[in-house]
Amino acid sequence: MLKLLLDSILDFIFIYECEICHRHLEDKKTIICLDCLHKIEKVEPIDMKQSFELKFGNHGYITKAFSCFHFKEEGIVQMLIHELKYQNKRTIGILLGEIVGNAIKHDVDFTSADALLPVPLHKIRLRERGYNQSELIAKGISKVTGVKVINDMLIRKKNTQTQTKLNFEQRLENVKDAFVLNEKYKDFVVGKRFAIVDDVITTGSTLNECAKELIRSGASQVLALSVAVAS
Ligand SMILES: [Zn+2]
Repeated sequence: MLKLLLDSILDFIFIYECEICHRHLEDKKTIICLDCLHKIEKVEPIDMKQSFELKFGNHGYITKAFSCFHFKEEGIVQMLIHELKYQNKRTIGILLGEIVGNAIKHDVDFTSADALLPVPLHKIRLRERGYNQSELIAKGISKVTGVKVINDMLIRKKNTQTQTKLNFEQRLENVKDAFVLNEKYKDFVVGKRFAIVDDVITTGSTLNECAKELIRSGASQVLALSVAVAS
């Protein structure tokens, strides 16, 4: 009962108008309007290059990456991702995915990928949350680019603890060998190019582990797409 009441209060706050410009929103599940989203914390290409070299440069599994926004503590993007992951605001995932899709729709490296692969959740986490936020983001990207989403190619075999409180080394260890290729794709994967999709890139360790498994299985190239990147 209390939860219902809380939900309707939250709805009253979040539905109908943009949190920033207070414009009327058609979609009651979004929090801010597209115009405002486009104004916030965009990642400049030069920042992105430096940031990705740091995260992916030495491993060689991910050859190209793109993120739309800077992930800052207490920032709007963090708020949106939080709503997406923990408040069942699934539409936010699609919306953020569409923004990523629009940003890369002329980049043939991404649009000619054979498939978008959302970073998988462990089956226990998936059952708790009811949906994979990265899959929703991938669906949004797919809507714009037409690249298909395959959500069961990678399987998360380790139910890793949440990374939020871990340092760089702990994160590496936490996700090490956490992903395995779904057997049914062992022929399909060979020679293909994939773009892995995640909500936020922090150290890059999760994406590196996904890419490592794909390359080890015969994929020719792995790219990465995310809504936000932490510097
Ligand atoms: Zn707005």
